[in-house]
Amino acid sequence: MSSAGSRDAQRRSVTELASCVRCGSCKAHCPSYRQEGTEGMGARGRAILLKQFLEGSLEPSALLDERIFTCILCGACNKLCPLGIDVTGAVYEGRRRLSAFNRKRRLLGLGMRLALKRPSLSFRVLQFIEGANEVFPLHRIKPFGVLRQMGITVPGFGLRDGESLFRVPRPRGRVAVFAGCTANFLSPHLGGALIRSLNALRYDVVLPKGEVCCGAPLMGLGLMDDAAELAERNMHVFRKLKVEAVVGLCPTCVHFIRNEYRKLGGEGIVHALDVAQFFAGERLPSDSDTQERRIASRIVYHDPCHALNYLGVSVEPRQILRERGFTVSETERGCCGFGGSFRVLYPELSGSILEERREAYRSADMIVTSCPNCILQLRSGIRDKEVKHLVEIIEEGVKGSRHGRRKHDRKQG
Ligand code: SF4
Ligand code: SF4
Repeated sequence: MSSAGSRDAQRRSVTELASCVRCGSCKAHCPSYRQEGTEGMGARGRAILLKQFLEGSLEPSALLDERIFTCILCGACNKLCPLGIDVTGAVYEGRRRLSAFNRKRRLLGLGMRLALKRPSLSFRVLQFIEGANEVFPLHRIKPFGVLRQMGITVPGFGLRDGESLFRVPRPRGRVAVFAGCTANFLSPHLGGALIRSLNALRYDVVLPKGEVCCGAPLMGLGLMDDAAELAERNMHVFRKLKVEAVVGLCPTCVHFIRNEYRKLGGEGIVHALDVAQFFAGERLPSDSDTQERRIASRIVYHDPCHALNYLGVSVEPRQILRERGFTVSETERGCCGFGGSFRVLYPELSGSILEERREAYRSADMIVTSCPNCILQLRSGIRDKEVKHLVEIIEEGVKGSRHGRRKHDRKQG
């Protein structure tokens, strides 16, 4: 991001925040405010602090730093503000200016910069750490320890290794997959389910070589230039593909590559869609043999914040689940408390937000969502229920269908 670009962003934020009438609507679903109950830990308090900080009348301090970095960037405030003020845009701007303020976060940022720019190497390092844990207790280093604490094991293979093309006979179109880091390296089975489901609907599927992290974790730490570098690399890879859509397994990635890249100086990948958005427009084959089990199960759909608040997705996944024979129970919606580095930096707050979800989903037999990160977080705190990605439900349906049994070619490039 150029310095002129960041000056513009800062000016825009100050102008927007100056129009705030302090009505407080934005804090109604603010997860940190719900836990802490103090003004400074809520969206309105942050909006007031950020205006003062960005216009230069408030100096950086440890307290200000905490107020700005305990925002989980869920976007609920933006959605609720009657004046359309981009509170999270101001939070990003504040973080950019505070990025070097806290030593612990500086170290985390350094590690993440190194890891996310070289995804394949980082994956091999993670695998090594997993294998060597008995000899070198590397899990004592916080970010690695968090994986352990959450019960996450690093699989022996990632989703991609070079470009892959999954073809079907007489395709009706071609779709690219933006897998995202979690699905790529921690939950590769989700990528497999997405590819098989797309193939079953007669789409050729391409996993292009060169996908890197969408940049959300770096932008969350205020490292805009590094996030912009990743954005440029992804846009270079995905914008030259001749595909009808770029389908993402993680709504945060989809929101970033489609919307936030524009703020980083790019054009964004405009035909990016999340799984629910893509499959809601498709006729999915039905498999009647599991209908009975479905009717007996009480399903809750957990709305990932970025799908709900930025992509506007809430009807589509419920429609898909109902079409597949599930009864979907409704409960008050809320964040899972993951937030990427938020879980590492503020584990207690993250845990109390998760506890609220555990209570809310108490009577459900199964939780379905469409974000691999929400799945890891929910599984770490709700161990007595199945937590599934929507694409696994979709795949279950297409597996037994005629198209689902077709063989597909796989070309490695
Ligand atoms: S909802 Fe909008 S106008 Fe109201 S306090 Fe929040 S930011 Fe200000
Ligand atoms: S993005 Fe979420 S956590 Fe941050 S201020 Fe807005 S509502 Fe609160």
